[in-house]
Amino acid sequence: MASERQIDVGGVPIGGGAPVAVQTMTKTETANLQATMDQIRTVADAGADIVRVAVPRDKDVEALKTIVKESPIPVIADIHFNHTLALKAIEAGAHCVRLNPGNIGGPEKVAEVAALATKHGTPMRIGVNSGSLPKHLHALERENPVEALVGAAVEFVELMERLRFENFKVSIKSTNVPNTIASNRLLSERIPYPLHLGITEAGTKWSGSLKSSVGLGALLADGIGDTIRISLSTFHAEEEVKVGWEILKALHLRERGPVLIACPTCGRLQFDMDTVVAEIERRLEAYEDPVEVAVLGCAVNGIGEASHADFGITGAKNEGLVFSRGKPLRKVPQDELVDVLFEEIDKYATSKRIQVDAESANEGARWLAQIEAENAGELTPERIAAMEKAASQLDEDASPTASRRFTRA
Ligand code: SF4
Repeated sequence: MASERQIDVGGVPIGGGAPVAVQTMTKTETANLQATMDQIRTVADAGADIVRVAVPRDKDVEALKTIVKESPIPVIADIHFNHTLALKAIEAGAHCVRLNPGNIGGPEKVAEVAALATKHGTPMRIGVNSGSLPKHLHALERENPVEALVGAAVEFVELMERLRFENFKVSIKSTNVPNTIASNRLLSERIPYPLHLGITEAGTKWSGSLKSSVGLGALLADGIGDTIRISLSTFHAEEEVKVGWEILKALHLRERGPVLIACPTCGRLQFDMDTVVAEIERRLEAYEDPVEVAVLGCAVNGIGEASHADFGITGAKNEGLVFSRGKPLRKVPQDELVDVLFEEIDKYATSKRIQVDAESANEGARWLAQIEAENAGELTPERIAAMEKAASQLDEDASPTASRRFTRA
């Protein structure tokens, strides 16, 4: 269930139906102002809505004072164990403070932080992590880790409510994907506050992206989660941002920049797809329009499979075709395919319309028709899928129950 409440983190709304925000965390020593600001600018360029910085020492608080002023995006101070640092981070102007009420030194210290946060209008993220649950929940954790995680989070929420502080979001994080999914589902039913989603210590760019996509994707597809952070073992925090965006784009929750689709390739492949797709992906990063770009490894099937794409390329016999929304645009030598594709995308980026030259389009259409005719008998994966679909439609039409399928009882 989507969260009912909304908070404001430095101008970015979180929860209550706001777009799901993408976060990351800097990997630099926060006190190293130059390195931290460089990384913040890099992640902001990659699309981070919010950035978190670790604040484990007084010198980090000192740097934080400048960071919050210079950062192009809101900054969350990440505090553990030391409530004095939380107080100093609020005074330094942090747009939000993340703390674990279970490790900050008791309810009185949480109350002190909440009072100062109220005075400054600073929101908080309160969170529980598997592995650092309060002692009285350890037995339950062994029996039912999901209930233990949710129980700890709800206890923290109740503590904040007793302190009359409700300007917060909540996170439950675990390295275990099924437990993350189950506990956030349960928590979303029990509290109205925004939820921050993440898989702790997810792993490398490869495995961590997959784990995060599965865990966060399952929740986001159900409308659960208001802000996400992908935790990857890489110094390049912008990679976390890119993965976060890909998850949101795949679920059609947000749009940012182009979407690349590519056929899986097979033995009919007519050009070096690995290199071409990687080059197109890299070059597309410079574009803001949410255009869909398709790469088909051969023209044997025509371009019907990618007819929804705003732009696409396909090739055969040293030649290739640039197409748009199911229609040919230009036939070009294969080694010019990528450059011509980007010429067409550039024209669109400037004029916001797809420009068709009738003569080039007709030449492309003739070339495509010839390739299709030459390969009419080929059983390509796409043609097999189309045949299976047609066969299942025939089965359905012939079924004696088909006519009753949509009849109300
Ligand atoms: S037949 Fe389909 S999967 Fe194979 S290369 Fe052509 S477009 Fe790609």
